[in-house]
Amino acid sequence: MAKPLKAGGEVDSWCTKCKLVLNHRIIAMVGTTPVRVECSTCNSHHNFRARAPGDKAPAGGSSRASSGSSSASSSGPRSTRGPTKAQQAVMDRERTWEKSVNGRAVSEFRPYRVSEIFEEGDLVRHSKFGDGIVTRLLEGKKVEILFKDDARTLAHGLVD
Ligand SMILES: [Zn+2]
Repeated sequence: MAKPLKAGGEVDSWCTKCKLVLNHRIIAMVGTTPVRVECSTCNSHHNFRARAPGDKAPAGGSSRASSGSSSASSSGPRSTRGPTKAQQAVMDRERTWEKSVNGRAVSEFRPYRVSEIFEEGDLVRHSKFGDGIVTRLLEGKKVEILFKDDARTLAHGLVD
């Protein structure tokens, strides 16, 4: 099961200020749906919106199919043997993080700021999420940064 969403938890949402789908903290929920969120990049508060305006359902290939909405009628049963894909992904992620971040000198980390431009492999120190490594550059001004507890999509190269 996907981890349940709750106030104080995290969710990917469209940021009305950054104009990107980014990691957000959930401020308020109605039932199982986030309604107010805080952008982890610019700290603005706004209504939750799962996708960019005008976007249709996500085209396949997204790495996080599990976030949010109902998955009641997915296609057919799947056999589960050994660790699930999700569990495997968590194990791989933690191993990658430890290999990349453990034992690195403090001076190798750059403080995270939206105005910085990051490259794949850069070590990042984030004021909320701690140490991480840039694992992917994403389209638009976004990077995927692997932190100890989760990978997050954050903005970079933004000019205020
Ligand atoms: Zn934002």
